[in-house]
Amino acid sequence: MVARIQQLPTLIVNQIAAGEVIERPASVVKELLENSVDAGASRIEIDVEQGGQDLIRLVDDGDGIDPEDLPLAFSNHATSKLRKVDDLFAIGTFGFRGEALASIGGVAHVVLQSRPPGREVGAMIECRGSELSPVRPWNGSPGTRIEVRQLFFNTPVRRKFLRTPATEMGHITEAVTRLALAHPRTDDRPGLHLVLRHQGKSVYEVTRTATLRDRIELFFGSDVANTLYRVEGSAGPVRLKGYICDPSCDRGSARMQYLFVNGRWVRDRSLGHAVQEAFRGLLMTGRYAISFLFLELPPEHVDVNVHPTKSEVRFRHAQSLYHLVYTSVKQALRQGEQLIPRLQVNSASEPLPAVTEPTPPAQGAIPRPTPSYIARQEESRPALPPLPSRAEEPMLPPRLPSRPAVPVAPLPASDTMFEQPASPRVLQLYDCYLVVETQEGMLVIDQHALHERILFEQFKARLNEGSLQTQALLIPEPVDLPGEAAGRVLEQAEALAELGLGVEDFGGGTVLLTRYPVLLGRRSPRAAFLAVVDYLTTQERLPTREVMFNELLSLMACHSAVRSGDRLTPEQIEELLAHRELALDHHHCPHGRPTSLLLSRQELERQFRRA
Ligand code: ADP
Ligand code: MG
Repeated sequence: MVARIQQLPTLIVNQIAAGEVIERPASVVKELLENSVDAGASRIEIDVEQGGQDLIRLVDDGDGIDPEDLPLAFSNHATSKLRKVDDLFAIGTFGFRGEALASIGGVAHVVLQSRPPGREVGAMIECRGSELSPVRPWNGSPGTRIEVRQLFFNTPVRRKFLRTPATEMGHITEAVTRLALAHPRTDDRPGLHLVLRHQGKSVYEVTRTATLRDRIELFFGSDVANTLYRVEGSAGPVRLKGYICDPSCDRGSARMQYLFVNGRWVRDRSLGHAVQEAFRGLLMTGRYAISFLFLELPPEHVDVNVHPTKSEVRFRHAQSLYHLVYTSVKQALRQGEQLIPRLQVNSASEPLPAVTEPTPPAQGAIPRPTPSYIARQEESRPALPPLPSRAEEPMLPPRLPSRPAVPVAPLPASDTMFEQPASPRVLQLYDCYLVVETQEGMLVIDQHALHERILFEQFKARLNEGSLQTQALLIPEPVDLPGEAAGRVLEQAEALAELGLGVEDFGGGTVLLTRYPVLLGRRSPRAAFLAVVDYLTTQERLPTREVMFNELLSLMACHSAVRSGDRLTPEQIEELLAHRELALDHHHCPHGRPTSLLLSRQELERQFRRA
């Protein structure tokens, strides 16, 4: 039997289309928001229940829909925005494919109520799994009100893929954030007023007067907003504007590299690469800059019709855009350099002076020194942070109780030829390195890398023994997190509690840090916590518990260790060296970089032709 060709029923057509456009509740929010903006709305309110699975309601004050057009809004390829094929190449609105409402109507129960401002009364229509109700009069205020309930009620597979309400809410927040960033107040027009509520509680409210900087602060906190440098550039008819963040404010993924093309948020690998290239040398490998870039270019220079959700575009002059982004970001960084003194990263020069006669590399030849993990100072921190005296809570944690305290630097007295100093002479250089005189030679220690290693081992040992001590914060510290981060973090609350970090939901993308491991010492637990959050939110899929714990412990160790740039007291130096002897592997930091280099006495003698 040959299968007969048949026209698919509308419901199935719409469900297929929904598969492309409506992936999760956040996709509904994105499409509805864009429709409101296209309708010239100046104020949009969104209410969400259960991460959008139960309800997404959006109310705008835009142009509305004529009652006669209501049924058309839900039919496929029905749009008021595209009239002829030529328009496709000069699109000024968000929508044009006319498939969003049809798709949503195919997989949910939608009530659409609208009243154009000039009309006495409006009208309403319902759509449930592509089935339309008759149009009825509706007596609401001018604008459009749309309610989406029971999302994916007839597509159980989709429904199964939904994550927790907190995670879905995170994605929704991200969609709102993108739209809010794209519509700030400027010199010539007010911004878009946006309200987002979850379960009746306000998550975000952005007012019309909020500038881009205000919006960045609202969504990402003052840490980000206070380290922004303005980016500006142009090439022919193309304009680039926005901000980048100081390199000290980096992230573990490119997620916070926001790019908007003619007001539309897009993802673009090539331009993301341009940003990273401009930051080259200022970020560790695997770290990403934060940027908020806005490109304005003639509509005919960009094809937005390459992706159903329009999150990717094609540029006609991709090469020159790359150049524009690269040079403008570089320029902005130069302006930043003057504002913030920073030690050079990657400035490792050759460790040994050139010698005339070729010398074979001595055993244990000196590797090129690696730049320290944090080789620059954060702007908010004074150059010399006050260190606690020994009487106070020590910055270096107490020694491991399970092991006996070893006298400082027990050097093997294998060679009696040389005189052995009672305790090693130590010099701190550049507030970064400790140079220690030892029997074997001159030992150069990276103070941060070593302390990081010690703390990492202590964390691990105590975790294994179940003796990790935690300290409750007298006043829980609120931490504002972007987008889905809060949801991700709260999902891991149990694992974090095991690691000594107490987190609680405060609502509105804010979590409360209630408890932290004592080992973090006097360092602000906030920084360590932010690093943990960053890790959790940048993993596509979380690794096994063991790998994750190792990663998180090493992050916390890194953030609580003394930094490069910290001037240490003689007592602290002594303590650090004592701990060095106790560490299982004091040669490498948890990231695998060396903690110390040795210039052997033998080598010194050879270099100075004494031997
Ligand atoms: P598109 O946005 O691609 O045109 P949609 O399916 O999203 O397609 O919307 C279909 C049509 O419904 C739009 O072209 C517009 O005329 C109308 N519409 C949808 N939402 C609104 C709204 N909030 N205000 C005014 N008109 C709307
Ligand atoms: Mg649309």
